[in-house]
Amino acid sequence: MALYVMKYGGTSVGSVERIRRVADQVAAVRAGGDDAVIVVSAMSGETNRLVAMAREIMPATVDTRELDVLLSTGEQVTIALLSMALKALNCDARSWTGAQVRVLTDAAHSKARIVDINTDRLRADIEAGCVPVVAGFQGVDEQGNITTLGRGGSDTSAVALAAALGADECRIYTDVDGVYTTDPRVESRARRLDRITFEEMLEMASLGSKVLQIRAVEFAGNYNVPLRVLSSFEPGPGTLITYDTEEDEMEQAVVSGIAFARDEAQVTITGVPDRPGIAYAILGPISDLNIVVDMIIQNVGADGLTDFTFTVNRDDYARVIEHLRSQSSELGGGSVSGDDRVAKLSVVGVGMRSHAGIASRMFRALSEAGINLRLISTSEIKVSVVIDEKYLELGVRSLHEEFELANASVDPD
Ligand code: ADP
Ligand code: ASP
Ligand code: MG
Repeated sequence: MALYVMKYGGTSVGSVERIRRVADQVAAVRAGGDDAVIVVSAMSGETNRLVAMAREIMPATVDTRELDVLLSTGEQVTIALLSMALKALNCDARSWTGAQVRVLTDAAHSKARIVDINTDRLRADIEAGCVPVVAGFQGVDEQGNITTLGRGGSDTSAVALAAALGADECRIYTDVDGVYTTDPRVESRARRLDRITFEEMLEMASLGSKVLQIRAVEFAGNYNVPLRVLSSFEPGPGTLITYDTEEDEMEQAVVSGIAFARDEAQVTITGVPDRPGIAYAILGPISDLNIVVDMIIQNVGADGLTDFTFTVNRDDYARVIEHLRSQSSELGGGSVSGDDRVAKLSVVGVGMRSHAGIASRMFRALSEAGINLRLISTSEIKVSVVIDEKYLELGVRSLHEEFELANASVDPD
């Protein structure tokens, strides 16, 4: 008898009809003799709807404590409805909010990290033959405040619960039937991967593939949680996230996937003094504002001056520009400019460790598509470029073609 943590995302519980279908699947697992703990997201669109209402009331600064109280209601709806649907099938079930379980988090509202999970109540349910249905995306801090885990956070709830319960597998059921070579909504020829290494999945998630929240992947790696992504609509094996890197490296193509993030912004400050401490003077205060800086490029200086470019999330763009303009004289008079219509496009693959020339193939393919590269950054298993957002789809398709990702065969290089 196995124990599965099964997580259903927003589209999978997007209507009463869909909730009934999820209940059918869960009841079938129980009827097969296995145990299940269910994690659900809010119904699709619900979290966005709640965020929009909060912004209407508080356009300037959002009170993150109250926002978390608000956003956590989305998942409270689906745990109750799914539990009802299971009971209607004579499958005993019980709903639990994060606070009721005691998913203990730190106090960082809207991006809280799970610190500990008390599994007593869930284990008692399982032993009593009852299916616990847990609200994803939420927890509670030491002071009893409701917290949320960041967008897409139900994935992390599921993986953390699977780790805490020692589940046999954490199954992330979503609206695609696995992890693809790239987002199948952008490239229809994208191919489902049977397996992807943990490292590649981590890069894909951190570079924008929202099929799994990055923290969920990190958590799975830290606790070696067997993790699978699969469709809630059709049966199939999905994609297994593997930890046995060496064996997989030998079998896999050089490039496994293409990731992208649309919500990027680029900021440049030109003509700052080229002196020790300038990077810190520019970026230190930005980090103090709790803004994450991604790619950073400092030009070679000329005439004692240099240019400095970096990227931030688009939501932070206005704040960064305003901050830098206010600091301009202290920074030696540099002029500040930027563009919040840029996107990051990346190729990922553990095979890059042993194969040269991936970056140049990428640059050639993008140049043949007429796409200008604004920024470039590389690491051991990925190459990323920043481009105009309007060319993103074209870039994704060009790279998918260049690295022959639509074909199941191993890359010829
Ligand atoms: P859920 O609501 O189930 O959590 P999400 O919308 O968060 O679902 O994640 C699933 C979506 O991720 C898919 O619909 C797909 O558009 C997108 N996606 C992005 N990159 C990939 C990829 N490489 N493979 C599969 N899906 C991807
Ligand atoms: N409902 C939350 C969101 O939309 C969490 C999740 O779906 O994972 O981000
Ligand atoms: Mg998601």
